[in-house]
Amino acid sequence: MSHAPMSVVYSEEAIRQRIGEMGEHITRDYDGQPLVAVGILNGCFIFMADLVRTIKVPLRCDFLGLSSYGNATKSSGVVAITKDLGLSIADQHVLVIEDIVDTGLTLSYLLENLRTRNPASIRVAALLSKPARRQVHVHVDYLGFTIEDRFVVGYGLDDAGLKRNLPAIHVFDE
Ligand code: 5GP
Repeated sequence: MSHAPMSVVYSEEAIRQRIGEMGEHITRDYDGQPLVAVGILNGCFIFMADLVRTIKVPLRCDFLGLSSYGNATKSSGVVAITKDLGLSIADQHVLVIEDIVDTGLTLSYLLENLRTRNPASIRVAALLSKPARRQVHVHVDYLGFTIEDRFVVGYGLDDAGLKRNLPAIHVFDE
Protein backbone atom coordinates (compact mmCIF):
# COMPACT_ATOMS: atom_id res chain seq x y z
CA MET A 1 0.00 0.00 0.00
CA SER A 2 1.30 3.41 -0.94
CA HIS A 3 1.31 6.25 1.59
CA ALA A 4 2.73 8.72 -0.92
CA PRO A 5 1.10 12.16 -0.84
CA MET A 6 -1.72 12.70 -3.32
CA SER A 7 -3.52 15.67 -4.83
CA VAL A 8 -7.13 15.93 -5.96
CA VAL A 9 -7.45 16.08 -9.76
CA TYR A 10 -11.25 16.15 -9.91
CA SER A 11 -13.36 16.94 -6.85
CA GLU A 12 -16.66 15.27 -6.01
CA GLU A 13 -18.44 18.38 -7.23
CA ALA A 14 -16.54 18.54 -10.53
CA ILE A 15 -17.28 14.85 -11.18
CA ARG A 16 -20.96 15.26 -10.30
CA GLN A 17 -21.34 18.20 -12.64
CA ARG A 18 -19.57 16.53 -15.57
CA ILE A 19 -21.57 13.31 -15.15
CA GLY A 20 -24.78 15.36 -15.18
CA GLU A 21 -23.76 16.79 -18.56
CA MET A 22 -22.90 13.33 -19.89
CA GLY A 23 -26.28 12.00 -18.74
CA GLU A 24 -28.13 14.81 -20.50
CA HIS A 25 -26.20 14.13 -23.69
CA ILE A 26 -26.90 10.37 -23.51
CA THR A 27 -30.59 10.95 -22.72
CA ARG A 28 -30.89 13.23 -25.75
CA ASP A 29 -29.11 10.82 -28.09
CA TYR A 30 -31.13 7.72 -27.17
CA ASP A 31 -34.37 9.70 -27.21
CA GLY A 32 -36.52 7.26 -25.21
CA GLN A 33 -35.06 4.08 -26.71
CA PRO A 34 -34.29 1.32 -24.18
CA LEU A 35 -30.66 0.81 -23.32
CA VAL A 36 -28.49 -1.90 -21.78
CA ALA A 37 -25.70 -0.33 -19.70
CA VAL A 38 -22.77 -2.76 -19.54
CA GLY A 39 -20.30 -1.94 -16.78
CA ILE A 40 -16.74 -3.24 -16.89
CA LEU A 41 -15.83 -4.48 -13.43
CA ASN A 42 -14.34 -3.63 -11.08
CA GLY A 43 -13.47 -0.01 -11.75
CA CYS A 44 -16.82 1.05 -13.23
CA PHE A 45 -19.05 0.55 -10.22
CA ILE A 46 -19.08 4.05 -8.72
CA PHE A 47 -19.08 5.91 -12.05
CA MET A 48 -21.81 3.64 -13.38
CA ALA A 49 -23.99 4.08 -10.30
CA ASP A 50 -23.80 7.86 -10.70
CA LEU A 51 -24.07 7.95 -14.50
CA VAL A 52 -27.11 5.67 -14.90
CA ARG A 53 -29.06 7.81 -12.42
CA THR A 54 -28.68 10.77 -14.79
CA ILE A 55 -29.91 8.87 -17.88
CA LYS A 56 -33.64 9.24 -18.49
CA VAL A 57 -34.49 6.33 -20.81
CA PRO A 58 -35.65 2.77 -19.92
CA LEU A 59 -32.41 1.15 -18.84
CA ARG A 60 -31.12 -2.26 -17.78
CA CYS A 61 -27.77 -2.77 -16.06
CA ASP A 62 -25.43 -5.67 -16.59
CA PHE A 63 -21.77 -6.29 -15.85
CA LEU A 64 -18.72 -7.89 -17.40
CA GLY A 65 -15.82 -9.04 -15.27
CA LEU A 66 -12.45 -8.97 -16.97
CA SER A 67 -9.04 -9.95 -15.77
CA SER A 68 -6.02 -8.95 -17.79
CA TYR A 69 -3.01 -11.20 -17.76
CA GLY A 70 0.38 -9.87 -16.77
CA ASN A 71 1.34 -6.74 -14.90
CA ALA A 72 -1.63 -5.16 -13.14
CA THR A 73 -0.71 -1.56 -13.99
CA LYS A 74 0.33 -2.28 -17.60
CA SER A 75 -2.38 -3.55 -19.90
CA SER A 76 -1.40 -6.40 -22.19
CA GLY A 77 -4.71 -6.37 -24.03
CA VAL A 78 -5.02 -10.08 -23.35
CA VAL A 79 -8.12 -10.27 -21.22
CA ALA A 80 -10.19 -13.14 -19.91
CA ILE A 81 -13.90 -12.78 -19.19
CA THR A 82 -14.28 -13.79 -15.54
CA LYS A 83 -17.97 -12.86 -15.35
CA ASP A 84 -20.10 -12.78 -18.46
CA LEU A 85 -23.28 -10.81 -19.10
CA GLY A 86 -26.50 -12.18 -17.68
CA LEU A 87 -28.60 -10.56 -20.43
CA SER A 88 -28.66 -11.19 -24.16
CA ILE A 89 -27.68 -8.00 -25.97
CA ALA A 90 -28.88 -9.17 -29.41
CA ASP A 91 -30.85 -6.32 -31.05
CA GLN A 92 -30.31 -4.12 -27.98
CA HIS A 93 -28.69 -0.68 -27.77
CA VAL A 94 -25.61 -1.19 -25.61
CA LEU A 95 -23.72 1.47 -23.68
CA VAL A 96 -20.38 0.16 -22.39
CA ILE A 97 -19.32 1.93 -19.19
CA GLU A 98 -15.60 2.02 -18.42
CA ASP A 99 -13.68 3.91 -15.72
CA ILE A 100 -10.62 4.85 -17.77
CA VAL A 101 -9.30 4.22 -21.27
CA ASP A 102 -5.52 3.96 -21.16
CA THR A 103 -3.86 1.91 -23.94
CA GLY A 104 -7.33 1.12 -25.30
CA LEU A 105 -6.45 -2.57 -25.54
CA THR A 106 -9.05 -3.75 -23.01
CA LEU A 107 -11.87 -1.82 -24.62
CA SER A 108 -10.91 -2.77 -28.14
CA TYR A 109 -10.90 -6.48 -27.21
CA LEU A 110 -14.20 -6.10 -25.44
CA LEU A 111 -15.95 -4.23 -28.25
CA GLU A 112 -14.89 -6.92 -30.71
CA ASN A 113 -16.35 -9.56 -28.40
CA LEU A 114 -19.63 -7.68 -27.86
CA ARG A 115 -20.09 -7.02 -31.60
CA THR A 116 -20.22 -10.79 -32.26
CA ARG A 117 -23.41 -10.84 -30.15
CA ASN A 118 -25.28 -8.71 -32.71
CA PRO A 119 -26.41 -5.70 -30.65
CA ALA A 120 -28.46 -3.01 -32.43
CA SER A 121 -25.69 -0.51 -31.55
CA ILE A 122 -22.73 -0.14 -29.21
CA ARG A 123 -21.45 3.09 -27.73
CA VAL A 124 -18.88 3.76 -25.05
CA ALA A 125 -19.00 6.04 -22.01
CA ALA A 126 -15.72 6.49 -20.12
CA LEU A 127 -15.04 8.78 -17.20
CA LEU A 128 -11.38 9.31 -18.04
CA SER A 129 -9.08 8.95 -21.03
CA LYS A 130 -5.29 9.14 -21.34
CA PRO A 131 -4.80 9.73 -25.08
CA ALA A 132 -1.01 9.90 -24.76
CA ARG A 133 -0.97 6.21 -23.81
CA ARG A 134 -3.18 4.90 -26.59
CA GLN A 135 -1.88 1.85 -28.52
CA VAL A 136 -5.04 1.11 -30.48
CA HIS A 137 -7.72 3.53 -31.59
CA VAL A 138 -11.01 3.22 -29.74
CA HIS A 139 -13.85 5.65 -30.19
CA VAL A 140 -15.25 6.98 -26.90
CA ASP A 141 -18.71 8.42 -27.53
CA TYR A 142 -19.15 10.02 -24.10
CA LEU A 143 -16.03 11.09 -22.24
CA GLY A 144 -15.81 12.73 -18.82
CA PHE A 145 -12.28 14.10 -18.73
CA THR A 146 -9.04 13.85 -20.69
CA ILE A 147 -6.02 13.45 -18.40
CA GLU A 148 -2.23 13.40 -18.68
CA ASP A 149 -0.24 10.21 -18.42
CA ARG A 150 -0.42 9.95 -14.62
CA PHE A 151 -1.74 7.10 -12.46
CA VAL A 152 -5.01 8.15 -10.85
CA VAL A 153 -6.95 6.59 -7.98
CA GLY A 154 -10.29 7.02 -6.22
CA TYR A 155 -13.90 7.13 -7.41
CA GLY A 156 -13.71 3.40 -8.27
CA LEU A 157 -10.09 3.41 -9.50
CA ASP A 158 -7.74 1.34 -7.37
CA ASP A 159 -4.20 1.30 -6.09
CA ALA A 160 -3.50 -2.44 -5.79
CA GLY A 161 -7.11 -2.98 -4.76
CA LEU A 162 -7.28 -0.04 -2.34
CA LYS A 163 -8.53 3.56 -2.63
CA ARG A 164 -11.57 2.77 -4.80
CA ASN A 165 -13.70 4.25 -2.01
CA LEU A 166 -12.17 7.74 -2.16
CA PRO A 167 -14.95 10.11 -3.31
CA ALA A 168 -12.70 12.27 -5.52
CA ILE A 169 -10.10 11.41 -8.18
CA HIS A 170 -6.52 11.76 -6.96
CA VAL A 171 -3.04 11.57 -8.42
CA PHE A 172 0.16 10.70 -6.55
CA ASP A 173 2.45 13.72 -6.21
CA GLU A 174 5.65 13.43 -8.22
P1 5GP B 1 -6.28 -0.22 -21.09
O1 5GP B 1 -6.52 -1.59 -21.68
O2 5GP B 1 -7.06 0.88 -21.76
O3 5GP B 1 -4.81 0.09 -21.07
O4 5GP B 1 -6.62 -0.36 -19.58
C1 5GP B 1 -7.73 0.10 -18.98
C2 5GP B 1 -7.74 -0.37 -17.53
O5 5GP B 1 -6.46 -0.16 -16.90
C3 5GP B 1 -8.70 0.48 -16.75
O6 5GP B 1 -10.00 -0.07 -16.79
C4 5GP B 1 -8.09 0.45 -15.35
O7 5GP B 1 -8.52 -0.72 -14.68
C5 5GP B 1 -6.60 0.35 -15.60
N1 5GP B 1 -5.98 1.69 -15.53
C6 5GP B 1 -5.45 2.40 -16.56
N2 5GP B 1 -4.97 3.58 -16.14
C7 5GP B 1 -5.20 3.63 -14.81
C8 5GP B 1 -4.96 4.64 -13.80
O8 5GP B 1 -4.42 5.73 -14.02
N3 5GP B 1 -5.36 4.33 -12.53
C9 5GP B 1 -5.95 3.15 -12.21
N4 5GP B 1 -6.30 2.95 -10.94
N5 5GP B 1 -6.22 2.18 -13.14
C10 5GP B 1 -5.85 2.43 -14.42
